[in-house]
Amino acid sequence: MNSTASGKNRGKVYLVGAGPGDPELLTMKALKILRKADIVFYDDLVSPRILGVCRKRIQMVYVGKRSGIHSCLQDEINHKLIQATHEFNTIVRLKGGDPSIFGRVGEEYASLLQDGIQCEIVAGITTALGVASSLGFPLTHRDYAREILFLSGHKKDGLNSDSFQNLNCIGKTIIIYMGLNSLGMIVSELLNSGNHKETRIAVIQNATLDSERVFTGNLETMESIVAENNVKSPAIIVVGEIVRFYEEMKFLKNSCASILSPI
Ligand code: SAH
Repeated sequence: MNSTASGKNRGKVYLVGAGPGDPELLTMKALKILRKADIVFYDDLVSPRILGVCRKRIQMVYVGKRSGIHSCLQDEINHKLIQATHEFNTIVRLKGGDPSIFGRVGEEYASLLQDGIQCEIVAGITTALGVASSLGFPLTHRDYAREILFLSGHKKDGLNSDSFQNLNCIGKTIIIYMGLNSLGMIVSELLNSGNHKETRIAVIQNATLDSERVFTGNLETMESIVAENNVKSPAIIVVGEIVRFYEEMKFLKNSCASILSPI
């Protein structure tokens, strides 16, 4: 389709980050756009409380995994977004966290622009940053880490073991998205790469939500901790000495709480 002309009188698509879950972590810009949206396409990681900020009676279209639209059918989502621009003025594609971090926003952005449709990416707080503030994981605390790595446990065609081979964890905070189902592979690759079995690791389920759960351990123990506690998706993994800092601060926080709590 030749597009600049076809873009006329068509709606604009906003590719919006919903943040990690807590609605208070939505950006002002995202909130403003959601409040004027005529239709919202959302997926699994968007919490219902965030959808609640939209106007009543607008169309809310679920395009997550349970809809049968599998991730490899990204084309189907692209097509739905393009179709919506013929009918609506403000179209929102709402994604968990930040759309540019393991969010497949690139495919949607390219397909919309190729069709001559106006679109804009709106930043969200990615889960790693949500966790850093809500739990107290200063990702680059200078006594612990000079580097941050955002890795994915998965790649397009299966497990992403490449990223964990020959990876030295010292001096780094490593955040792993989509890693829960590949935790076994991740810890064994890290051990095979010469990392000490005592290297600290945390798994956080439902980060920033009321249902948040945090588990800490080391490369040797984490898999069984996760199994025993039946940890479910969405969960993010943090590897590095900063986990030890979190544990120490948690201990201090708890002891303050007991001093301050009423007798
Ligand atoms: N764009 C998102 C990431 C999408 S990839 C972002 O910026 O955060 C999906 C992965 O994100 C999940 O498998 C999980 O590892 C992580 N994730 C998203 N929301 C989460 C949450 N509330 N708690 C824990 N992990 C979360």
